Amino acid sequence: MTNQNNNNQNNQNGDNNGNFFNDNPLLALGIFMLSLYILFNAFMGDGNLTGVMGDPAIKNVEQVKYSDIRKKIKDKGVKSVKITATRVEAISTDGSTKFVAKNIPAFDMQLIPLLEKSGVPYEGQVGEGPLEHYFNMFLPIILLLVLWFFLAKKMSKGMGGLLGAGKADKMINSERPDVKFDDVQGVQEAKDEVLEIVDFLKYPERYIELGAKIPKGLLLVGPPGTGKTLLAKAVAGEAEVPFFSVSGSSFMEMFVGVGASRVRDLFELAKKSAPSIIFIDEIDAIGKSRSSGNQMGGHSEQEQTLNQLLAEMDGFGTDTPVIVLAATNRPETLDAALLRAGRFDRQVLVDKPDFAGRLAILKVHSKDVKLAETVDMEIIAKQTAGMAGADLANIVNESALLAGRRNKKIIGQDELLEAIERAFVGLERKNRKVSDIEKNIVAYHESGHALMAELTKGSTRVTKVSIIPRGLGALGYTLHLPDEEDRFLKRKYELMAEVDVLLGGRAAEEVFLGEISTGAGNDLDRATAILKDMIMVYGMSEVAGLMVLSRSQSSFLGGGQINNEFSEQMSQEIDASIKATLTERYEYVKQTLRDYNDAIEKMTAVLLDVEVIEGKKVQEIIKAFEEENGLESRMAHVQTKES
Ligand code: ADP
Ligand code: ZN
Repeated sequence: MTNQNNNNQNNQNGDNNGNFFNDNPLLALGIFMLSLYILFNAFMGDGNLTGVMGDPAIKNVEQVKYSDIRKKIKDKGVKSVKITATRVEAISTDGSTKFVAKNIPAFDMQLIPLLEKSGVPYEGQVGEGPLEHYFNMFLPIILLLVLWFFLAKKMSKGMGGLLGAGKADKMINSERPDVKFDDVQGVQEAKDEVLEIVDFLKYPERYIELGAKIPKGLLLVGPPGTGKTLLAKAVAGEAEVPFFSVSGSSFMEMFVGVGASRVRDLFELAKKSAPSIIFIDEIDAIGKSRSSGNQMGGHSEQEQTLNQLLAEMDGFGTDTPVIVLAATNRPETLDAALLRAGRFDRQVLVDKPDFAGRLAILKVHSKDVKLAETVDMEIIAKQTAGMAGADLANIVNESALLAGRRNKKIIGQDELLEAIERAFVGLERKNRKVSDIEKNIVAYHESGHALMAELTKGSTRVTKVSIIPRGLGALGYTLHLPDEEDRFLKRKYELMAEVDVLLGGRAAEEVFLGEISTGAGNDLDRATAILKDMIMVYGMSEVAGLMVLSRSQSSFLGGGQINNEFSEQMSQEIDASIKATLTERYEYVKQTLRDYNDAIEKMTAVLLDVEVIEGKKVQEIIKAFEEENGLESRMAHVQTKES
């Protein structure tokens, strides 16, 4: 059995660095010039080649001593001479050889008179020579400087600006969204809350003339993927104003002061194009309570950024039509200063959608895909309890991909259901080879879960049992999706039912195979966690009574528990109680499986044969077994209307 956690996606706007060179034509030019220079030097470095290539009459080039050239001039062995600051070249009388002397003495004052005397024509490059010389000396340095400049600039974008960060920062996205309120569904309360902002942005004069104080900041609070960003965009879209967005985590830079300057730029941009919206995603990254936790390094950076943000928010009056929207899923970690009046003093809950909301979101997202007439979105909405808008959008998209892979022209109910399953338990891994021995274990294990799910009051009924490996770890799974309305509370017997169903897997292995495997690890972990929460969080035990021993740190993240103070003795009692309950439930579950011996055998056989069975088949098998043996039915679920 696998976890029913859905993976929430967090859409982030990354900094889109296109092609490195496309972004930096000058850098490309720099590198090109450097290569050219290297090539140029390779050919020129040793005058030979130029000589040969320069004048076709010259057959060979000889490196000679300077004194040799002087001698040749005196002996009338050359017909012309060329002098530069670094070398002297002479062409032999027959024109076939070029003598080159590179290491000339400091400066030979007598060379020109000698040439005059010998009547050898000469030309000099004394004027140009040193220039070429300097050029040779400094070009690489200049090129390196150019290269360094662009590299540094490039890096500064990623790291926060070595060379004066800020202007036209790529971390700040600006756009004019065309998202409308109709695109955001299932969060009606939140929409109502932001409605007045839209009006203010549209007709700021009305409010300003009246002297009305419009909130400057509004905090959107809710789990990831529920549409906080989308809602903020819709506000801008409805008001037809520019939308400047930035992610809180992008403020956390290596260099102190960069975040603060980015905040300054952000507000400057927004004020310049007021009326406008500023959206800060993941504001908890900047606005973390200063008293809580001490992160390494980034601490003073975070503090400076936060202070800058506070200063900016205080800085503009209520008559500036700029509204700052911020999103977080951990409001409890925010610094109190952020929530003070005149800052983010309004909080809007953007929660996971209920049934009607999910239905509406599914409809929004299936507008652009081709759905079969037979698709029943209500069923899909029912089976996706607990999912956020982003998950639902993903399900519609996955189903379209599936239909495409199956070469279908339209998306059917099958694809949608498959996509839900995929979201819950991960991808099917048909190629993974599982040995027959392991398949056998998995089949008994899953049958144990399925039977317990059907027989236990308070459990949801089985939708599907499969022994095809899925996702990362699951070798098989028993899926029981809620088929009724959304649930916000769990009653005690429902929690206990979950424990029984979780224990069903291990119990089946022990009862029918006489051996236990590691396959139940995750089940046992979750069963233990449920029992522990019942004692420590929900006050449902005799050990601690109504005393709560643990608070969950975040209502949205689920994780992070803070333990209240309690005695060592209490701790021991809790452990003992959990262990005793697990043992007792395990014995009960094993007995139940023994009572339904043949039903389990049958289910396992069918599973091994076809690998996947529907919930209906499970119910049939159990019913047949009960009737055969003249047992009164223990099936916990009222038979729903056949569809
Ligand atoms: P958050 O900012 O709360 O993490 P997003 O606004 O980034 O979530 O949501 C991601 C995507 O999921 C959206 O672009 C949209 O396609 C879809 N989505 C999320 N919530 C909703 C919703 N309430 N209505 C319609 N679509 C939604
Ligand atoms: Zn299991």
